[in-house]
Amino acid sequence: MNDRSPLLAAVNSQSSWLITTLCDLVLVESPSDNKPAVDAAVHLVASLAQSIGGRVKLHRQKHFGDILELRFGPARSPRKPILLLGHLDTVWPLGTLRTMPWRKRDGRFFGPGVLDMKSGVVMALAAIRALAQLGVSRPITLLLNPDEEVGSPVSRPITERLALASQCVLVLEAAQGLACKTARKGVGDYRLHVTGVASHSGVDFTSGHSAILELARLLQTVAGFTDLRRGLTVNPGVISGGTRSNVVAEHAFADIDVRIARAGDAARVDKLFRSLRCTDPGCKLEITGGINRPPMERKPGTVALYKQARKLAAELGFQLDEASTGGGSDGNFTAALGVPTLDGLGAVGEGAHAAHESVVIEHLVPRTMLLAALLANL
Ligand SMILES: [Zn+2]
Repeated sequence: MNDRSPLLAAVNSQSSWLITTLCDLVLVESPSDNKPAVDAAVHLVASLAQSIGGRVKLHRQKHFGDILELRFGPARSPRKPILLLGHLDTVWPLGTLRTMPWRKRDGRFFGPGVLDMKSGVVMALAAIRALAQLGVSRPITLLLNPDEEVGSPVSRPITERLALASQCVLVLEAAQGLACKTARKGVGDYRLHVTGVASHSGVDFTSGHSAILELARLLQTVAGFTDLRRGLTVNPGVISGGTRSNVVAEHAFADIDVRIARAGDAARVDKLFRSLRCTDPGCKLEITGGINRPPMERKPGTVALYKQARKLAAELGFQLDEASTGGGSDGNFTAALGVPTLDGLGAVGEGAHAAHESVVIEHLVPRTMLLAALLANL
């Protein structure tokens, strides 16, 4: 399709549906840790998909919401599908709507999960509706995960399997400013737990072995793992330990966030953590966790995809830049498998995971046009 006007008209005709549906979906609160709540959002999106001819497959889960796999276009086709990748869970607990209601102000919509990433989900459905209106039929898989905000423990294998069977992956996470994302850092989580020997700090000081002091020494070493030139950062973000100031502490732990820009650093960082040893022979160290998302590196397949998206965006009348981010997404998994992955194709806005989370209304339709153009032309 070289004349874009039918596509523009078809997507434009979806704009009021898009906004009503976005409101409906934001009003169904869906924190990752609440299965019935996430399932309610799954149910809403599944019925919307069915109404536009989508085939629904639920991957049932015990502890998380069900994983929603939707198929559009011909059931049999020589072409591989495009995988549209998103999630229905949010970081916001039930009841957040009371303090962060759905509202429109200053050209934006506000509400829990509106940017991360209920807009992206609804934009994908609107793009598919527009293509159906134009009679464009191609295999599309829309996978919506229930556990992305907690590291995708149950959905990862399904994401990876569907990605390997797809031509490419378009991730519906929010844009970075106005740019899409061609690189993301990998993410790790470690816990250091030190067990020492408790004693009375006044009566019996020398028989104690302080878990707190030992942990403090270890954290100095851990902080030294940061290497900004490699894009490697190590952040002890949580620390806890001890019981009272007059007791030599028996327990202390720290939770540490790790970000890596290079795939090769996963093993390197892990080795550094595993080589940590206590200085005080009376203390014991236990290390749990690891790297849970590989980095999405800026590989040729992704760059080629980005160039196509940039060209389509230019035809639609806007400039699409590329950016890298320190945050992870499910696109990290698909990119690490070598499947061309372009991320940040969802809404434009700000404040993901923050009280001012919002999307800019004027970008909703143009970005949906870009999604539709990608689906029609890739
Ligand atoms: Zn997200």
